[in-house]
Amino acid sequence: MTTALISDVHANLEALEVVLRAIDDRGVRRILCLGDVVGYGASPNECLSLVRARCEMVLLGNHDSAASGGPEAARFNPNARAAALWTARALTPEHRDYLRGLCLSRRVETFLCVHASPAAPRDWEYIFDRFDAEPQFQFFTETVCFIGHTHQPAIFERSPSGCVFLPPGRHRFEPDRRYIVNVGSVGQPRDRDPRACFVFLHEGVGEIEFVRVAYDVAGAQQRIRDAHLPPVLAARLATGE
Ligand code: ZN
Repeated sequence: MTTALISDVHANLEALEVVLRAIDDRGVRRILCLGDVVGYGASPNECLSLVRARCEMVLLGNHDSAASGGPEAARFNPNARAAALWTARALTPEHRDYLRGLCLSRRVETFLCVHASPAAPRDWEYIFDRFDAEPQFQFFTETVCFIGHTHQPAIFERSPSGCVFLPPGRHRFEPDRRYIVNVGSVGQPRDRDPRACFVFLHEGVGEIEFVRVAYDVAGAQQRIRDAHLPPVLAARLATGE
């Protein structure tokens, strides 16, 4: 069986629609979402409707929490905070209540899913490199932990000799190793590749495959400008920063 893992949609409807089409084109039926469906972008209700209809599991992200009454916005930078306040006003009460009910982490078969970090999911720590990743392995027992949050796709492989970064691509899990896999961001990539990013997990063969798809960036940018969200949130989508 193949499962698609998506994260950090960030209210970018143009990116989400293209990603769902790419998943459908491969005939993949199971989709898991690692959080941050909303925040930054201008289509929070549309993205929530789609994610809720299509994803078997949805986790809470820090922007989902901030937009639905959580305390996170106080620690955001001014642009993220402005977007969180805009999103809180834009969300339907029903979507807001849905976000409030989401879990921080979930075990799925042999792997763990969490938005930010297995050590302290509600602290929203960032795992950027192998030095951040290495201590995290003691906080979960599963072979693989899937994360999002940094918007930077990555594979961290732990072996008896240490933890290494593997570039995102196609990778087969080695039987005597453990992994933290960052599935990247659908709606706001930050690895200088503006294309939407997600992952296929081919469970039968123990393999992951990162996928990039181009989408209508100009359309998403126009919605952000029309909503009077901070202009930098539109500009960054063109460069993937
Ligand atoms: Zn995010």
